[in-house]
Amino acid sequence: MRLGKVSGISFDLDDTLWPFEVVVERAEATLHAWLLENAPKTASVLPAPQALAQLRAEYERSRPDLAGDFRALRIGSISLALELAKEDVTLADLAYDVFYSARHQVEFFEDVMPALHWLSARFPLVAVTNGNADLRLTGGGEFFRAALSASSVGVAKPEAEIFHAAARAVEVAPAEMLHVGDDYHLDVLGALDAGFQAAWLVRRNRLEIARVEKNTREPHLTIRDLSMLCEALGGPGSLS
Ligand SMILES: [Mg+2]
Repeated sequence: MRLGKVSGISFDLDDTLWPFEVVVERAEATLHAWLLENAPKTASVLPAPQALAQLRAEYERSRPDLAGDFRALRIGSISLALELAKEDVTLADLAYDVFYSARHQVEFFEDVMPALHWLSARFPLVAVTNGNADLRLTGGGEFFRAALSASSVGVAKPEAEIFHAAARAVEVAPAEMLHVGDDYHLDVLGALDAGFQAAWLVRRNRLEIARVEKNTREPHLTIRDLSMLCEALGGPGSLS
């Protein structure tokens, strides 16, 4: 598919602007250290930071009603750890604040800042995430006209409604919107179904490429980094 006219760009956040797994691992390590210091008996149920992730996953399975509510899932799993360790459960909110703050210590991929700088001078940009990252806390918010999340809109990607809300936020018709994201299902198919153009960002995942080669629904662009996106939109070859 050829790229058509682009008048606005929407961006996924996690794994598109920064690597997600590493930031969560680091935030869990920070939370773990905080718990051991402020509720020492949690050491018995949380021998290592990884135990926090396990507990969080178990808690999520036991509470399907909380799906997508990252704050509630995290606070609930912290409360569970405190309860199991016979520590003060009311510490959970404070512990969550420590985690939430650490979760925003992201490291942008190196192509991101130069690209956002170039793109935001030419197109209105809007963030569309299913997660709970806040661009005011991660940095980079100055490049975006608006930021939407599944929890603020009430529906998540790949639903068309969240893409349409993004188009409205920058006052651009869906057909002239280009959505950029790493997740083939949520970002590419979601955007195409909403009448957007789609740029699939594949930084390293060769397996996903293999999968889509057999798929009939192709993105308008497949890019390795955001400087390739700028190039496709008429920018200089390498911005970083
Ligand atoms: Mg993503």
